[in-house]
Amino acid sequence: MSGALCLGGVLSTGAAPYGTARSVGASCAHGHDPVFEAALAAADARIPRDAAPGARAAVPGVLALPLRRGYRVTARYGVRGNWLAGHHTGIDLAVPRGTPVYAAGAGTVVLARSSGAYGNAVTIRMPDGHYALYAHLSRIRTRSGARVTTGARIADSGSTGRATGPHLHLEIRSKRPYGSDVDPVAYLARHGARLR
Ligand SMILES: [Zn+2]
Repeated sequence: MSGALCLGGVLSTGAAPYGTARSVGASCAHGHDPVFEAALAAADARIPRDAAPGARAAVPGVLALPLRRGYRVTARYGVRGNWLAGHHTGIDLAVPRGTPVYAAGAGTVVLARSSGAYGNAVTIRMPDGHYALYAHLSRIRTRSGARVTTGARIADSGSTGRATGPHLHLEIRSKRPYGSDVDPVAYLARHGARLR
């Protein structure tokens, strides 16, 4: 049983088919979804930056775990694979469908809608300029443009988009574009939330 993984995205040229990656449970192919990235870029451009000088450099404060129930890590961040980015850009946390999902950090919801390979997804811009992306949701409980606080319930987990089973794909980007992902475990840990 390889667990619940996300499969979305564009495989790089010559990529091995899904399931042939070396490590079982490490094959989330959350690659570049051009439709989603274009929608995210357009939405991001419409939402004003915080007016306060230096807002971008603000620290996000203490972060919260996105899940409060037990979860299983089915694909860690950064595992290598035959994807456009060359690695898994987030972390996969397997939980039953319908599990409440909370904002790890406060911020502005840039996009909250059905998003191709990511399924129903919520992307939040945080005060330090990082973006948190929550994917494969069964239900979205916020909307684009909303301001959310740390720990606010934003969604229910699911397996929408390209996923083999119910899980939360949490991705943290240092900038908006695909490929600027950072280790979500390290990022959360730096701000007081230990994923594992
Ligand atoms: Zn994933």
